[in-house]
Amino acid sequence: MNWLTEFVRPKIRSLIARKDVPEDLWHKCPACEQMIFHRELERSLHVCPHCGHHMRLSALKRIAATFDGGADGKAGGTRIELPSVPADPLKFRDRRRYSDRLKEAQAATGLADACVVAHGSVGGHRAVIASFEFGFMGGSMGAAVGEAIVAAARLCVLQEAALIVFPSSGGARMQEGALSLMQMPRTTIAVSQVKAAHLPYIVVLTDPTTGGVTASFAMLGDIHIAEPGALIGFAGQRVIEQTVREKLPDGFQRAEYLLDHGMVDMVVRRAELREVLSRLLGLLMPGVAAAPAENPSELVQPEEGAGPLVAAEPEPPLLTPPAGLPPASA
Ligand SMILES: [Zn+2]
Repeated sequence: MNWLTEFVRPKIRSLIARKDVPEDLWHKCPACEQMIFHRELERSLHVCPHCGHHMRLSALKRIAATFDGGADGKAGGTRIELPSVPADPLKFRDRRRYSDRLKEAQAATGLADACVVAHGSVGGHRAVIASFEFGFMGGSMGAAVGEAIVAAARLCVLQEAALIVFPSSGGARMQEGALSLMQMPRTTIAVSQVKAAHLPYIVVLTDPTTGGVTASFAMLGDIHIAEPGALIGFAGQRVIEQTVREKLPDGFQRAEYLLDHGMVDMVVRRAELREVLSRLLGLLMPGVAAAPAENPSELVQPEEGAGPLVAAEPEPPLLTPPAGLPPASA
């Protein structure tokens, strides 16, 4: 054995070897192109410290940043287990199998599907949050997402909590065809159940909120908050331009434009969002203090025999008079 090659050389190699440097220490702001250190980006909740551009925030970070107790790094809310749905019911395949795309998205995000539901308190008020993960197939709404919104709405009614939804979605999940479209009426009925129970329903429109999500539950809130610069619309700008054959104004479909035209109630910067939500809940739910929930995972289990897709047919509690009722003020 040659100690020079077997021992000395590897030692020297390890000394001069480049240390593993994580590649994503610095992020480039897509708006102003300045570099931002990753810790600073975490601290600012993915808002550019140079120009204030709001980048996309993951579903879990969103939940942690909104619930009480989330600021010190600990998870602020408790996630609930969502009912499972049949994966790939149509055995859909384009260039790749839908089931493969699903597995890939699940591995990349660590989530089962594009919507996460958690309960906790916001400013001392009971709240259920449904948060979208845009990184999961563009936050598209399939049966699993519909199921998540229905579960969130049911949990709200059972806990007498407010419902806060953070959509971030390209719209319907085309790989699920008509089953995806069915989630529009389902989620609409689900949120009307929250309103019928005189509980507040607040939507925080984040970038982007488009398609079937805009056309259903995302535009039915008691209060619509939007994040600065968020793209909010149904059809894309190019499609509209080609249809109406007109040049669309600057900032069309952006949060500020929609605020000027009465589509959203306020545009709130991410740093102030928690405070604004707490204040709104204080106004809408006076005297309702947060209390620990009794085993919520039990409450949202799918009923026996009713598969998630079967649940598309209306169920008795969902048939209560829809929308239009004022939030609890008495
Ligand atoms: Zn920037």
